[in-house]
Amino acid sequence: MNKRKNRVTMLMLVLVMVIGLVLGCGAPVEETPVEEAPVEKSSYDYEQELNILDDNYRNYYEIFVGSFYDSDGDGMGDFNGITEKLDYIEDLGFNGIWLMPIMPSPSYHKYDTTDYKAVDENYGTMDDFRKLVDECHKRNIRIIIDLVVNHSSNEHPWFTEASAYLKTLSADEEPDLNECPYVDYYHFSKDSQGASYASVSGTDWKYEAVFYYTQPDLNWSNESLRKEFEDILDFWVSDVGIDGFRVDAAAHFEENDTAYNTEVLSWIYQVCKEKNPDFYMVSEVWSAKSTIASYYESNTDSMFNFDAAQAEGKIIKAANSGNVEAFVNAMVGYEEEFGSVYPDYIDAPFITNHDMVRVANSLMSDENKLKMAAGLLMTMNGNPFVYYGEEIGMKSFGSEDENKRLPMQWSATDTAGMTDGPAGSKKDVEYSFPAVDEQLSDPSSLLNYYKRAIRIRNENPEIARGHVEAVSDLCDGKNAAITKTYEGSTIGIVYNANEEEITLNLSGTALSEMNIRGYLTTDSSVVTLEEGKLTLPARSICILK
Ligand code: CA
Repeated sequence: MNKRKNRVTMLMLVLVMVIGLVLGCGAPVEETPVEEAPVEKSSYDYEQELNILDDNYRNYYEIFVGSFYDSDGDGMGDFNGITEKLDYIEDLGFNGIWLMPIMPSPSYHKYDTTDYKAVDENYGTMDDFRKLVDECHKRNIRIIIDLVVNHSSNEHPWFTEASAYLKTLSADEEPDLNECPYVDYYHFSKDSQGASYASVSGTDWKYEAVFYYTQPDLNWSNESLRKEFEDILDFWVSDVGIDGFRVDAAAHFEENDTAYNTEVLSWIYQVCKEKNPDFYMVSEVWSAKSTIASYYESNTDSMFNFDAAQAEGKIIKAANSGNVEAFVNAMVGYEEEFGSVYPDYIDAPFITNHDMVRVANSLMSDENKLKMAAGLLMTMNGNPFVYYGEEIGMKSFGSEDENKRLPMQWSATDTAGMTDGPAGSKKDVEYSFPAVDEQLSDPSSLLNYYKRAIRIRNENPEIARGHVEAVSDLCDGKNAAITKTYEGSTIGIVYNANEEEITLNLSGTALSEMNIRGYLTTDSSVVTLEEGKLTLPARSICILK
């Protein structure tokens, strides 16, 4: 510093002191000793920077298009409605969307396709859908759609032509595939009997239809059928630009034939992966954990984790009973069992989907338990899938599928976007929890719990991707802890499922050097860490690093 600057600085200091004296601020203040109070920071005070990696690990939101948001007032949810609600989905922290079937279909649920290269006009035009895809990509949201290829609709031209051809044959005449190649796209037979076969009316011919007579099973051994699908997959992946498929009924291509079915999955995956190296695929194998594990022999990204789902699954069970130690052991087990078959697997945990009774039913609308279930899901590895409406605690009614797919509750006072729901579904439903608009403005709502949980997930890449180890010293029934390590970075997750506050001593454990990085509590109560003692309120989850 030169002399001139020095002098100026001195002059300014004097000036400041004089002003201070005049204003009475210069008087000496007696320092009162401050007691060391425990640092009580709210969950939101711990907000960290987002650290969202641009890979196939995503937080997915499952949408039944017809019941989500109606943009044009005809009572039917549509593509433009989803585009309008992308702010909502993005604000919750989801960066992936799975749309239930969108291809033309005679049914309300559309799990029976009549045209594999179009969209159902009830949901909008192909241009509307392309716009939705573009808008998702602008927000770095990936969009995957249902691919229903175990069966087509019985109104698909392949099937109607094949059936019409078979009707022209005399009783002892065999079909000529040169005359009608579509006969071999399905499993037509005169011999096969049983519940999984339906009849071609007016003939002795039957066809395999495992789910329902309107859903004839396709024959994936037929090379011409595969050629058709090469073209279909190219259309969706290369032309329309979707990011992946959710493959329906993958265990049924050939009933319980894992080798056959995994070959079909691998084939679909390879065709799509050649078009887009970032392509993602998740398949539905609604079976026991060991069967799900065997489907990773397909070397495709994800299988839905049915072991964690539903009322009897690991998540709801832990939320209900409080046994988070069992939950932690399950997480360790998934990594061992799935990872040993396919090391690059991405688990796809979920609590419910469109085929299941909703979470609020299973947990008797106990808000604390619903929050705990959400917290457990959002601390699992892989890609969590949340069925629309679970974030506001919607209910289902009975066993009818229509009543598991009811209109999204946007508002109790504003009818904008409200859909009519499937034909024949329950109307005038009373829910235990308020609609979206009300929950958004309540900091301790279930919706804001989801939002906070997903935020924490988006701050810590270790949660989705890390290698899991139980911290056995801290695991004891209703409390449990794990570490997750990803690319050299380790975080800790501590669960308290007790109905009262507990204090855990972290010293001597893998978490002893860590600090609080974020936490989830069911209300405004706080988590504190003092001299290695972590105090967790009832039903809380803490992330440490
Ligand atoms: Ca509409």
